[in-house]
Parts: sequence; C-alpha cells; structure tokens
Amino acid sequence: MSLVIIGTVAFDSIETPFASSGRIVGGAATYASLAASYFSEKVKIVAVVGDDFPAEEIEHFHSRGINTEGLQIKNGRKSFFWAGKYREDLNTRDTLTTDLNVLADFDPLIPENYQDCRQLLLGNLTPSVQKTVIDRLRNRPELIVLDTMNFWMDSAWDDLHEVLTHVDVLTINDEEARQLSGEYSLVKAARKILRLGPDTLVIKKGEHGALLFSGDQVFSAPALPLEEVFDPTGAGDVFAGGFTGYLAKTGDYSFENMKTAVIVGTAMASFCVEQFGTERVKSLSSEAIADRIRRLARLSNFSVADF
Ligand code: AMP
Repeated sequence: MSLVIIGTVAFDSIETPFASSGRIVGGAATYASLAASYFSEKVKIVAVVGDDFPAEEIEHFHSRGINTEGLQIKNGRKSFFWAGKYREDLNTRDTLTTDLNVLADFDPLIPENYQDCRQLLLGNLTPSVQKTVIDRLRNRPELIVLDTMNFWMDSAWDDLHEVLTHVDVLTINDEEARQLSGEYSLVKAARKILRLGPDTLVIKKGEHGALLFSGDQVFSAPALPLEEVFDPTGAGDVFAGGFTGYLAKTGDYSFENMKTAVIVGTAMASFCVEQFGTERVKSLSSEAIADRIRRLARLSNFSVADF
C-alpha cells in the first residue's frame, strides 16, 4: 500500500531580501515527497522533467526510498521553471516567471505497481492533470489531499472546481482561500470552500500557523517562532507532504488525528524555511523532527483550571 504524490519537479530561482539562489532544484512534488519520506516508506512520485534535470537529484529521491518509476524524463525538453521574489516581510511573494515547459503537455502515466495507492497527494500542478491521476487509479484511494495555488485559480478556474469535487482534503494558503471563496474572513471562506467538495480544509498562514476546518470543527496550530527565516519556498508543499505522510503512517483520518497531522506538517515546514530550496529537508534526523513536534505541543499548552 503506497502514498502516491503528484506535482512539479522543477527548477526554481528565488530572490529573498537577503540573497538570490540562482537556479536550484524545487517543485511541489520534490518538496512534498521528501517531507513524506520521513513518515512513509512507500512514497511514489508521478511527475515530468526534461533531460536537463540532474541525475543525482533523482538518485537522492531513491536514497530516501522514494519510487520514481512514474517520473517521466522527456528528451530534448526543459523542466518546469519558476522564479519568485519575496518582499521584506517574507510572507508575501511575487511570481516573476512560470515556464511550464514539459508541464504544458504532461500526460501522467501511472505505473502498474502504483495501483496499490492508499493515499494520494495531488500536489500543486495543472488541475486537469490532477483529475486524470484520480481517473487512472483503478480503486479510489482512502484519502485524497489536494494542494494548489493562485496561478491555477487565474488560469484553470473550472478545471480546479471540477477536481475539487473529488478530493477529501484541500490545503491552501490564506491568500488563496480568499481568492477561491471571494471572502476576506477565513471562517466564511472555509464555510464556502467546504461546499465545493472537500470535507476538510487546511489554511496555511505562513509564520502565523495553520487552521484546520471540518464540518463545524476548527483547530488552530501555531507556527514555530523561528529566529531565522531564510527562504519560505516549498514550505507549503513540505507541510502537505508531512501532513499526508503522517496520515499515511497512521491510517487514521479522524479530525483528532488530522490535528496531529497539521502539527507534523508545521514542524516539517519549519525546517524547510531555514535554508534555500530543499537543502534542509533533504537530511533530517527523526530525533530533530520529534523535538520540533514536542516544542509545538508545549508552545500552545496552557491551563484553563480557573475558567
Ligand atoms: P510553495 O512555496 O509551497 O508555494 O511551493 C513553491 C514550489 O512550487 C516551487 O518549488 C515551484 O517550483 C513550485 N511552483 C511554483 N509555481 C507553480 C505552479 N504554477 N504549479 C506547480 N508548481 C509550482
């Protein structure tokens, strides 16, 4: 039984107020699968790259136990490229370039041994491709989590709404929740979004933590206060990978367990922002991860004995 992750495997170029990365490896599936690999030994990627993508990066996926049979390599083509620039607050970013390249005509092929998919993470990429992956799995996975971004709300609104009717959990950031719902209040936004298909919604708020909504239930998770935030790129994908990886490990999709999954995602994202690109999430120890999860639990633990 496996956790299948789809998304971009890409090159990024990032500018922060402190530094520029130059061309580095990124992509939603890259970040998410690395994060999930700390919780599940059966992570399988579906994605596409050009022949410009470094073989050693694919080797690194293997070293983390990630199956790449579903990663297509297109000869003579270029990988997806994204460039972004962060403002002073590091919470706001502008996209400078999105070159779809191989993503423009990506046909996601599902290897036969991916048909044991139990949980599916539809990481950020073309909504119609996300839908095709659902259609090509013979059995509906127990859990389908979808992540997306403003780019697809601007360019593929109808396809995004269509795929949303097939998923269990949506993870997006606060700005995207407002765009998708047309509501400024995140509580009103959540109510509207939960009518679009998913039973559960996670709204990521960067350094302000995350909100989990399901039915009438709400859970608020803090972010870990960090002294240094170097590069927030990929934090949302790492969150989604950690969140879904933990749900895959436990096989428990109750609201109580999703609360823990949000904390796990938050802890994983806190590592991601400490260095450029995937550098920090490439090699974490299970002790370092457990330590951050315990710190998050202490951070918002208080007594209500007098009330
Ligand atoms: P995040 O910071 O979590 O939003 O994710 C950043 C990653 O998303 C980068 O590594 C990019 O390669 C990737 N990315 C940027 N734009 C898109 C897009 N339109 N579709 C899919 N992935 C994207």
